[in-house]
Amino acid sequence: MKIYNTMSKQKEEFIPLQDGKVSMYVCGPTVYNLIHIGNARPMIVFDTFRRYLEYKGFEVNYVSNFTDVDDKIIKKANEEGVNASVISERYIAECKKDMEGMNVKPATTHPLATQEIDGMIQMIQTLIDKGYAYAAADGTVYFRTRKFTGYGKLSHKNLDDLQAGHRDIQVTGDLKEDALDFVLWKPKKEGEPYWESPWCDGRPGWHIECSVMSKKYLGDEIDIHAGGEDLIFPHHENEIAQSEAANGVPFAKYWMHNGFLNINNQKMSKSLGNFFTVRDIQEKYDLQVLRFFMLSAHYRSPLNFSADLMEAAKNGLERITTAASTCKRQMEASVVESMTAEEQDAFAATDVYVQKFEAAMDDDANTADAVSAVFELVKYMNTNASASNSKEYLGKLYDRLQTLCDVLGIIVEAEEEILDADIEALIAERQAARKERNFARADEIRDELLAKGIVLEDTREGVKWKRA
Ligand code: AMP
Ligand code: ZN
Repeated sequence: MKIYNTMSKQKEEFIPLQDGKVSMYVCGPTVYNLIHIGNARPMIVFDTFRRYLEYKGFEVNYVSNFTDVDDKIIKKANEEGVNASVISERYIAECKKDMEGMNVKPATTHPLATQEIDGMIQMIQTLIDKGYAYAAADGTVYFRTRKFTGYGKLSHKNLDDLQAGHRDIQVTGDLKEDALDFVLWKPKKEGEPYWESPWCDGRPGWHIECSVMSKKYLGDEIDIHAGGEDLIFPHHENEIAQSEAANGVPFAKYWMHNGFLNINNQKMSKSLGNFFTVRDIQEKYDLQVLRFFMLSAHYRSPLNFSADLMEAAKNGLERITTAASTCKRQMEASVVESMTAEEQDAFAATDVYVQKFEAAMDDDANTADAVSAVFELVKYMNTNASASNSKEYLGKLYDRLQTLCDVLGIIVEAEEEILDADIEALIAERQAARKERNFARADEIRDELLAKGIVLEDTREGVKWKRA
């Protein structure tokens, strides 16, 4: 399997540090608002990559943090007149709901920056002891960038160019030794959350958070570190400097970065205001459609969001789920149990789609080509399966489709459709419950129906219902 490594700018053969095991860290969102679909892109593509690693038999330790202390969180908390933790806890809960809707598996660990402050203080102290960091007069601790010889190796930037870029923004009275130095710890400001430290009451810089959480949950050296390409510089460059200076070993073996989700060819971002939240999309589409849309492009390519592409994704996804439910119905109708010799050959003829799927995913997680292989399997099923086939043959085709879709995080399992008669029966039961003033049961039935997409309306003429 090959992975494009941002560090070497090449596709490299993936060889994990430990046989059969993969340690993977994906930088997570800053939680001050509902996530937008740009933030959803790394979640979906790296979840898919994780699923593929698991499909290949690797045991994956997948860590993705929540940045729960940050200027934007504090600003929002001040606007609402609440503690920063109220904001971060609220949006972590909302983010987890979105992840569930997009069928993104929970990470092995989702660490929170605010719960790891001791580790950050320790790492900063190590950096000071080794001469890689210093505390300025006001208690700010800076990383001594020029002391770390590999600085710029991920983003392929050279220090002198960076220095030139900094010249115009360097202000007099700056407490840094050098314009390139970046913050590890900063003093508290009025009304901000803070922690005690040897240097001042304050809070960590953003970059040190990931170095510490990665070290704690995955170790000093990890296999894969991932995130959006906007994180390459300075975030990941700074993480490398901190981790390698402190731990004395290479940090991550492979660096994977997803391209931007754009809108009108411009990066979707909170600050530009050109974003759709995952919730906005959910009003119109099942989030499976959003997931499928993301996977229709290669993760490193820019992807332009458009209504047309979402419609195309919806149709594509339907082709797959329809094939799955048709196959299921055929299985139910079939009267033959075991596969015939011809069916064995016919099933073996689908091996090629699995091979294509794997070859695509082995080639730097090319989900676009993997999706094409799934479509080929669907096409084959549409022409080579019917209720006159055996249950075993149909079952094997169904499982094959489901297995591949499961790697993509696409759910093919057709929802059990609720029959009109069942709805009527539940409505009658609800009316009876109400008569007995058992409102709890009546509400329960309403919710149960709602969960199945049935909306009840109490009218003068009685209860009416419709499928949402
Ligand atoms: P943030 O909360 O801005 O730190 O972003 C969380 C994750 O989403 C990071 O990995 C970002 O690189 C990624 N991200 C943010 N905006 C986009 C976008 N428009 N397209 C793709 N990834 C993005
Ligand atoms: Zn990070």
